[in-house]
Amino acid sequence: MFISKIELNSKIGITPKTKEILNQEGIISIFDLITLYPKRYLNFSISELTEGPVLVKGVIQGDVKAVRFRNNLNMLSFECFINDRIVKIVIFNRLFLKNRLVNNKTIYISGKYERKKETITASDIYFKLDEGKITPVYKSKADQKVIHEAITASLLRYKDYINDEVPEYLLSRYRLLDFYTCLMMIHNPSSLDDVKEALRRLKFEEFFRFQLKLAYSRLDNESTLKAPKIIDMARVRKFISTIPFELTDDQKEVVNDIYRDMKSPKAANRLVQGDVGSGKTIVAAISLYAVAINRCQSCLMAPTEILARQHYKNLMDIFKDEDIRIELLTSSISKVKRRELLERLSNGDIDILIGTHAVISDDVIFKNLELVITDEQHRFGVNQRQILRKKGNNPDVIYLTATPIPRTLAIGLFADLDISSIRTMPKGRSPIKTKVINNENLKPVFNFINDEIKHGHQAYIIAPLITESDKIDLHDVNNVYEMVKEHFDCNIGLMHGKLKDNEKDAIMQSFVNNEIQILVSTTVIEVGIDNKNASVILILDAERFGLSQLHQLRGRVGRGNIKSYCFLSSTYEEIERLKIMEETTDGFRLSEEDLRLRGPGDFFGNKQSGMPEFKLVDIVKDYKILEVAKKEATYIINNNLLKKYKYLYEYIKNEFDNSSILD
Ligand code: ADP
Ligand code: MG
Repeated sequence: MFISKIELNSKIGITPKTKEILNQEGIISIFDLITLYPKRYLNFSISELTEGPVLVKGVIQGDVKAVRFRNNLNMLSFECFINDRIVKIVIFNRLFLKNRLVNNKTIYISGKYERKKETITASDIYFKLDEGKITPVYKSKADQKVIHEAITASLLRYKDYINDEVPEYLLSRYRLLDFYTCLMMIHNPSSLDDVKEALRRLKFEEFFRFQLKLAYSRLDNESTLKAPKIIDMARVRKFISTIPFELTDDQKEVVNDIYRDMKSPKAANRLVQGDVGSGKTIVAAISLYAVAINRCQSCLMAPTEILARQHYKNLMDIFKDEDIRIELLTSSISKVKRRELLERLSNGDIDILIGTHAVISDDVIFKNLELVITDEQHRFGVNQRQILRKKGNNPDVIYLTATPIPRTLAIGLFADLDISSIRTMPKGRSPIKTKVINNENLKPVFNFINDEIKHGHQAYIIAPLITESDKIDLHDVNNVYEMVKEHFDCNIGLMHGKLKDNEKDAIMQSFVNNEIQILVSTTVIEVGIDNKNASVILILDAERFGLSQLHQLRGRVGRGNIKSYCFLSSTYEEIERLKIMEETTDGFRLSEEDLRLRGPGDFFGNKQSGMPEFKLVDIVKDYKILEVAKKEATYIINNNLLKKYKYLYEYIKNEFDNSSILD
C-alpha cells in the first residue's frame, strides 16, 4: 500500500469535519499530511535581556498598579526581578490578570524590551511554560493542535509505509538524515538545529527530484532521433536578402544555432532569450522558412490570441512573396471553418499554423510537423515541454522568451535546454528615457502625455490593481480610468483581465488603429504587444513589480522610430530601488538585479511562469544544494541507473506518463 493512497481517518484523530477542511486545502492523503511542513515555529526558549523582542522569566516585586484610560483601555504595571535586574513591566488590557500577579510570583513575559527605559512592554504573560519547547505552526485553517497530533500519530502508525526515496549512498555521502527521522524532527524538533538538519535533507530531495526530471527530459530528447533536415541554403540566403533590414550579429548567430539544430539528427530543444524588441520574430521566421520550403509543417504558438494574430499578420507580410501557406487557429473561428482547417492541416495543405496553445490539443493533427516555436516560453513547465515534443515526429522545438534568465537560474532550472541569447538591439533604436517619479505628483506627467498625444502619438497608463472589494483604492484600474477621463479630452480605452478575450482584442485593435489614444490597463498588455505609435508609458505603483516585469512593460513603447518615455510612479520610499530603471535598458542586467533583490520567487511575475514551484528551497540561497543535487541526478540518469532505484523510477515514470527511454 502507498502512503499517498491512504486517506485521512479517525485512527489518527481526524474527524470528518477536519478532514473536509484539510481536503479543501489539498491535504488528501497521509503522505500529504506528514509532508505538510511547518511554516514556522513558536520558540519558548528563554532569551537574554537584550533590546527588542524577548521571552524572559522573572519574579514579581511588590504590587501591581492598574490604570484605566478612556475607551475601555487599561494598563497594568509592576516591577520584576529578571537576571539580577529590576525591570518595569507594562501590559495593556489584561486587567483580569491583576489578582494572579502577586508579589514573589514567578512568571514568563514575552514582549519588547527597551534598555533605556528599563521596561518591557509585554504582549503576553504566562504562568506556566514548556521552557525550551519548540512548537510547529502549520499553514492550515484546521486546529493547530489537532494537526500536530494527527501528524505525530501518523508517523507512529504508518511508519512502515514511509519509504525513503533518496538512495542510501547519497544519504551517507552528504550526511543527510533518512526520511523518517527527518519527518520526526521537523514536526517535533528539540532544537532549531534539528529543524535545520531536517530541512537540509528535505531541500536536497526537492531539488534532486526536480533535477532528475530535467536530466531525464534532456536525455530523452537526445536519444530521440529525427531525420536531419536538408535545407536549400542558397534559397534561404536569397530570402534573407529580401528582409528590409540587416540582421544583427546576435540574430545571425541564433539563426545559425537553430539551423545547426535542424540539420542535426538530434531534435532541437532550444531557448532563445532576447530583450523586448531585440528581434526574435524574424529569427523565428527564418527558421520557419527552412521547414516550409521543404513542404514540411511548423507551428508557432503564442500565449494570447492578440499575439497569435499579430504573429499571423507579421508572417503574412514577411512571406508575402513566397509560396507558403499560413493559417491562424484561434478559439474564435467557427466550427465549420475549424473542421476545414484541421482537415487541410492533416492533409499537409498548410505549412505554418499559428495559434494559442490550443494548437497542441489532441484533435489538431499535423501531417508532418517538424518545427514548433513557442513565443514567451516561460509559460511552460518542464512537463509541458515534454508533451510538446511528443507532438509530431520529434519536431525541433524552439522557445522564445523576452525575460532573460539570470545565469544561475538558467543552469539550475533549464538544464534540459540549450540556450541562445540576443544581447544587442537592432541599430538606430534610441533607448527609452525613463524617469522615476513620486506618486503624488502626476500632474506634470499628465501634461507631458497630453503633449505627446497632440503630436499624434499614443500612451499607455498601467494600474496594477483591480480591487475585488468595495475598498476604495485610488490606483484601482477603474478609478484610474475615471481620473484619466477627467484629465484628457481624447479617446480612452480600459482593459483588464476580467474582459472576455474578444473584448480585449477589440480594444487592442482600436488602440493599434489609433482610434483610442490612451489605453488604461492592468498588466494584461504585458506580453509582446506591438504598437509602434505609442510613445509614453506611465506605470502606477511601480514598486509592486519586479524590475524584469517593469522592463517588459516599458518595452511596450519605443518599438518604432519615435522617441519614447517611461514614467514609473511610486511611493517616496521606493524611489531609490527603482532608480536602476533610469540607468539601464539591459534586460539581462535587470534580471540579475531582480534576482538579487527579490529572489526567484516571483521572478517571472506570475504563477503560470513555468518556474517550478518549490515548497522549501530558495533557488538563490540554496544554490549549493542545487548544484550537488544536479550532479547526482545527472549521474543517475546518464549512466542509466534509474531502474536500480525503485521509487525514483516510479516517480519519473509517473511524472512523464510516457516512458520511452525507461522501458
Ligand atoms: P521581440 O524580440 O520583442 O519579439 P520583434 O521581433 O517584435 O521583437 O522586433 C521588434 C521590431 O524590430 C520589429 O518591428 C522588427 O521588424 C524590428 N527588427 C528586428 N530585427 C531588426 C534588425 N536587425 N534591424 C532593424 N530592425 C529590426
Ligand atoms: Mg515577440
